[in-house]
Amino acid sequence: MARDIAARFRIAPGKRAHLGRRDPADIAAFPDRGDTEAQTARDSAEIDRLQDRLYAERRRALLVVLQGIDTAGKDGTIRSVFKETSPLGVQVAAFGRPSDEELAHDFLWRIHRACPARGFIGLFNRSHYEDVLVGRVRTLAPKTEIEARYGQINAFEKMLTENGTTILKFMLHISKAEQRERLQARLDEPKSRWKFNPGDLEDRKLWDRYSAAYELMLYKCSTAWAPWYVIPADRKWARNAAVAAIVRETLEDMNPQYPKPNWKAGDFKVG
Ligand code: AMP
Ligand code: MG
Repeated sequence: MARDIAARFRIAPGKRAHLGRRDPADIAAFPDRGDTEAQTARDSAEIDRLQDRLYAERRRALLVVLQGIDTAGKDGTIRSVFKETSPLGVQVAAFGRPSDEELAHDFLWRIHRACPARGFIGLFNRSHYEDVLVGRVRTLAPKTEIEARYGQINAFEKMLTENGTTILKFMLHISKAEQRERLQARLDEPKSRWKFNPGDLEDRKLWDRYSAAYELMLYKCSTAWAPWYVIPADRKWARNAAVAAIVRETLEDMNPQYPKPNWKAGDFKVG
């Protein structure tokens, strides 16, 4: 079942994602909401058990990259999928506009420092991909520099995987209509107002250009070693289910093991 979910949403290397042909409200993989939510709860609990083994093993890491336009649900996905995971085993990094110090370095400098250590699950709320998304749409660097970044990202991610980090990349795909609802909710609901940023409306006006930048990123950077998944995200429960299933399956495939001690319990006496 989880394998079907991963295969359904994975972008094959060298293939176009065709975002316009993907329905952000697609729930065909999850026919029953109640069953799906129960499965997500089981997946979250299992992710915690697998993370415990990953931490004990201390040999490998998992990096989960979340990208999506404003209100796509990056924070909500982290909260839902990893709510059972021990905070001891998770390293979260959110990437906003780069600081002066960060801008004085190459775009991957701040990213590399935030990558998960062995034994940890790293969660990226936005990532180096902003440098080919907002960077491209708003021309924050010369065109030739931005073009070169796709290959640099692929090489960087390859290096990470060769050093023990498994990488999963999720694009949370919402419709323009759904974004309207969610932005309006941020204006209307007192508890959500803090999340509203007038700049989000400027980005909304550039919807088509962001979509094109996402398409290009998916085309150029879904690789055998670090695949992109496009997750239909108009329905939060279906979005959470898809991400939880793929994270769980990936950890199961990694199959981390508790280290075997070089002593027997009988060697010691607890006084
Ligand atoms: P939020 O995720 O809502 O806190 O917003 C973070 C903001 O930082 C978004 O508007 C991003 O587009 C922006 N941002 C993140 N990374 C970069 C980057 N590398 N260059 C420019 N802006 C960025
Ligand atoms: Mg925002």
